[in-house]
Amino acid sequence: MNSSQLFDRAKKVAPGGVHSPIRSFSSLGRDPIFFKKALGAFLWSVEGKKYVDYCQSWGPLVLGHRDLDVEARVHEMISTAWSFGACEPYSLDLAEWITSRIPWVEKLRFVSSGTEAVMSALRVARAATGRQKILKFEGCYHGHVDSLLVQTGSGLAGVSASSSAGIPDDVKNTTLVAPLDDEETLEAIFKREGNQIAAVIIEPLPANYGLLIQRKEFLKKIAILAKQYGTLLILDEVISGFRVALGGMSEILEIKPDLVTYGKVIGGGFPVGCYGGRKDLMDQVAPNGPVYQAGTLSANPVGMVAGLSTLQKMEAQNGWQVLEDRGQFFENLLKPIFEPHNIQFIRVGSLFWFHFKTATPVRRVSQIPEGQKEFFKKFFEKTLRQGIYLAPHA
Ligand code: PMP
Repeated sequence: MNSSQLFDRAKKVAPGGVHSPIRSFSSLGRDPIFFKKALGAFLWSVEGKKYVDYCQSWGPLVLGHRDLDVEARVHEMISTAWSFGACEPYSLDLAEWITSRIPWVEKLRFVSSGTEAVMSALRVARAATGRQKILKFEGCYHGHVDSLLVQTGSGLAGVSASSSAGIPDDVKNTTLVAPLDDEETLEAIFKREGNQIAAVIIEPLPANYGLLIQRKEFLKKIAILAKQYGTLLILDEVISGFRVALGGMSEILEIKPDLVTYGKVIGGGFPVGCYGGRKDLMDQVAPNGPVYQAGTLSANPVGMVAGLSTLQKMEAQNGWQVLEDRGQFFENLLKPIFEPHNIQFIRVGSLFWFHFKTATPVRRVSQIPEGQKEFFKKFFEKTLRQGIYLAPHA
């Protein structure tokens, strides 16, 4: 069966034929490709066409598909056990690896997705501060957590509207939304309701609407205001964690979050997420404290060994430098090709984006040049035909 026949079948059993909306390629105005096999930098479609995969499962596969060392550990684990639902040493090994290298993660809890990590971190923050409100930024995505599927609702900063149906008003009304790259508005929001805000959450490298690289001073300002108002700082490093550096953006920016969320790379391509941070905050979590959070398949041993072997290999091979060097190589090749077409190439390590040239850096969604969506649609289609699979998101 080809992709189109499979998609017809899939649409009968799953909404839009997919199990995550972005996989439908609906924003690209075409039907999705169905893949059957992956290895290293490559994907094979069910039709047998080979693609260079620049998406790598949206980020977790920093070593590429089915890295041989990771694969060996996964096989070994699967032939030993693939779920205990009980205490085991595999998650301990990964937890110790992380806490011994990332000083601001004093304690952590493994979960099964980035969404779960964020949702749980917010709960801890609310419990620890006794406050209800959360501050997030327009243009950051934190998973499909009710209280974060919220966007700016009007011109008035801090007034929110939900970006999904099914979000209760009471939940929506506890979320404030600030623009990125705007200290003044941020200060005004904190001045107005800072003492009611439990946590401010941000992707320190906003990578869900292009790559909206923030000024260091802006990110530092968030940390300063949070501290001043007794608001906890949550850095959502689901994408950037273990990707742009071992310690993610927190390490690069030298900003110590109260809580941090990870996903993607931490599970080496298996469903693993994690939230962690200050010991006193994490000790609020059950069974130590009153914040309930649990998971049948949390710290799944296959995900744990895949994550640990990925991270160990990255560390042993100075993988973050390798990603930077390859990113630089790629940039050097592409820039002269894009330049005459007035296209700007943006990159942090192995994360890249490109858009029509602008006079000033694009740091907010509203600054993304017009026509970007249409341009990317065409670009995606053309590169796809040449066997290049970019992240399918206009
Ligand atoms: N936070 C960020 C920054 C993300 O990019 C994502 C997903 N891409 C999430 C949270 C949610 O992670 P998951 O899809 O694993 O639930």
